[in-house]
Amino acid sequence: MKKATLLITLLLSLVALGRGQAPEKQGSSSKSSSQEVDAAYAEAHALYIDLHQNPELSSHETQTAAKLASRLKNLGYEVTEHVGGTGIVAVMKNGAGSTVMLRTELDALPVEEKTALSYASKVHAKDDAGRDVPVMHACGHDLHMASILGTAAIMAASKDSWHGTLMLVGQPAEETISGAKGMLDDGFLTRFPKPDVAVALHVGNLLPAGQVGIVPGVYNTNADSLKITIYGKGGHGSAPHTAIDPIVIAARTILALQTIASREVKPGAMAVVTVGYIQAGTKNNIIPDHAELGLTVRTNKPEVRKQVLAAIDRITKAEAEAAGAPRQPSIEHYEGTDLVFNDPGLALRLKGVLQVALGNDNVVMEEPITGSEDFSYFTEQGIPGFYFSLGGADPEKLAQAKAAGTTLPSNHSPLFAPDVDPALHTGISAEVAVLRNLLSGSAEELHKAIAKNAAAE
Ligand SMILES: [Zn+2]
Ligand SMILES: [Zn+2]
Repeated sequence: MKKATLLITLLLSLVALGRGQAPEKQGSSSKSSSQEVDAAYAEAHALYIDLHQNPELSSHETQTAAKLASRLKNLGYEVTEHVGGTGIVAVMKNGAGSTVMLRTELDALPVEEKTALSYASKVHAKDDAGRDVPVMHACGHDLHMASILGTAAIMAASKDSWHGTLMLVGQPAEETISGAKGMLDDGFLTRFPKPDVAVALHVGNLLPAGQVGIVPGVYNTNADSLKITIYGKGGHGSAPHTAIDPIVIAARTILALQTIASREVKPGAMAVVTVGYIQAGTKNNIIPDHAELGLTVRTNKPEVRKQVLAAIDRITKAEAEAAGAPRQPSIEHYEGTDLVFNDPGLALRLKGVLQVALGNDNVVMEEPITGSEDFSYFTEQGIPGFYFSLGGADPEKLAQAKAAGTTLPSNHSPLFAPDVDPALHTGISAEVAVLRNLLSGSAEELHKAIAKNAAAE
């Protein structure tokens, strides 16, 4: 028996050497067994269904936070609630070592669910403007919370497999890019141990469930939200010569804004300018006195970001002036977040860890995406970050869509429906493997290893 074990160990070592990718300290402890995930799965899945049926809008995640907080408390975590609004921080200290943060978002979106799933959301709520809106977990944050619960249970039940401080963070209001900032403003870095590394994942439909994706370096984009109000002169729809029509100015402005990415930004540099809404007028025979546009702007370089925002300002003002508008448009920059940067050394190290945990074929390298995230607020505090993708697509449906040259409903779609099993199973396995690896040495060793890997890349 002993001989057989030795032989197997030797063979496995040879295989690992042959692959030439055995990361440091990736013993059996960094691999979560499928059995322990199975044991934690039922409760994680039950939370998923509950959260999916009871979604809450950004900054209003009171029930959601309470559900997660009480479960983490029961598992033995020291839980602080109401951090930056509805945020929660759950800490488990387990001897000396690094402090590793794993973050999930808490919020859902004002989207009417059309998935026809038996557990589809039927919830309506009042948004911040007092409007009645449907609510849906259309971005998969419910899956992230379920995954963190499964991970939390496994880590609490296997304290001999890691040491250090594990910090689970439930962040509110990701969709409005205000929750991370809210938690930091509420003393996140001083009230709790400062993390040596921050980890998060996001489910999506670009990868099949069962896989994870890694993007070393720039992961996504800077995002800026603008509200533009164009002023005209109201009047009778039959007498345009007595008015200055803000709808016509808005139409011209929208088309001119599209020349920023196509004509002003250097080809190859990334820039997206989307006018997501236009609101003006009340009746067909009235020329209104103002029109409002809502924009989202995505870039992945600071100089391009500056260039695009300046161009929007210039074009919007010039179009209004060209039309003889009575006053300059107002341009309100009401939200902004920086891109998420994946520490290359950390990404390289954890790629190996995930390959061991999930199998080589289930870890793919991906291109940066054009989405955005306020996870960057945490990593900008000098905390190296690792943000990876979790496959959520039904593998068969994804293959069919690819063959037909189409895509599956994306995050934020009323039809977004991740393939929960195996996606949740994979999410838990991946998180546990990553945490055990990061919580296996001292903080100094971790910092050194990250720097070394980054230099080697
Ligand atoms: Zn989202
Ligand atoms: Zn999201």
